[in-house]
Amino acid sequence: MTPDLDPSTVVVHAGRPARVPDAPLGPSPVFSSTYIAGGDRGYGRFGNEAWAALETTLGQLEGGRALTFASGMAAAAAVLDLVPVGGRVVAPAHAYSGVLALLDQQAATGRLTVERVDIADTAAVTAALAGTDILWVESPTNPAMEVADLPALCAAARTAGATSVVDNTFATPLLQQPLSLGADLVMHSATKFIAGHSDVLLGAVITADDSLWTALELRRRSLGAIPGPMEAWLALRGLRTLALRLERAQSNAAFLAARLLDHPRISRVRYPGLADDPGHARAAAQMSGFGAILAIELGGDAEGAQRVCESTSLWVHATSLGGVESMLERRRRWPIEVPTIPADLIRLSVGIEHPTDLWTDLSQALK
Ligand code: PLP
Repeated sequence: MTPDLDPSTVVVHAGRPARVPDAPLGPSPVFSSTYIAGGDRGYGRFGNEAWAALETTLGQLEGGRALTFASGMAAAAAVLDLVPVGGRVVAPAHAYSGVLALLDQQAATGRLTVERVDIADTAAVTAALAGTDILWVESPTNPAMEVADLPALCAAARTAGATSVVDNTFATPLLQQPLSLGADLVMHSATKFIAGHSDVLLGAVITADDSLWTALELRRRSLGAIPGPMEAWLALRGLRTLALRLERAQSNAAFLAARLLDHPRISRVRYPGLADDPGHARAAAQMSGFGAILAIELGGDAEGAQRVCESTSLWVHATSLGGVESMLERRRRWPIEVPTIPADLIRLSVGIEHPTDLWTDLSQALK
């Protein structure tokens, strides 16, 4: 493809079949568990046309080569499998609870050791890096919305000989490209904004390092956590409209964050787009937009926060995020959520509905 295209153009055009007469405009999902012998793919666990098209597109957006997996957790598990037995991982105190739980499980069996750090505290993270195999970063973090200094942390990891991994799910490849900020690996729950319609589970890892790509591809084929062809096709179809979806969702999020800030029941709004948010300056420096996720706190009123989640009619009370439909949930309703996440914190995933309708429903639920 022509170099220097804007990412909002790349997301529409990358990964398409060659433009020859009668070629289809997009790839088709190939439903075959195996292939006629003699070619490169060989078997359904090793490759699929729909994965390849999605991977080409994600690779171009993030500036590397992509591998897709059955879910975000499958992608995370493949990355953590790179840690040698007895190795060390430095991970955020607050991040997606599933990844933190997986690290805890692996630490409990002696597979690896984990040190949890405040990922927004660059000095503390850097001080923890000696002897580390993988620095796991999420930015902004789920659901605390902390922003890590990606260039500084990735450089510190490189100096310490650690592989840096950035979970870029909240930012999406359109708002933040961690490889260009020094990361070795970027990971996505493509279930969220990339697929975008709450109908697919899928994960991805992208790297510009061929040896890391090969090591991860080996894990995908041997551990077998492969995406289904239909899921990969749906994710690519969803990804085509990411720029438009994000534009609307992000402007809705900024509108709601400003209104929530003035609401008498809300004690704190966490959104890096707000000028006095602790992550604002960093996010402004390393992201091209502040995203469509925010979190609110209700002054310690956990039961009240739960009732708010159960009192909306338009906002969907469900876990997950990044879909076209706005969703909310109190994260601590999950036993595995980190206990330092406030019990009254509600995560809001802002969708693409009309902003006034979203505010009307949310403000009636807050009454
Ligand atoms: N990373 C983040 C930031 C997430 O929010 C999630 C899921 O919520 C995951 C990873 C795991 O992804 P999946 O649910 O696709 O396995």
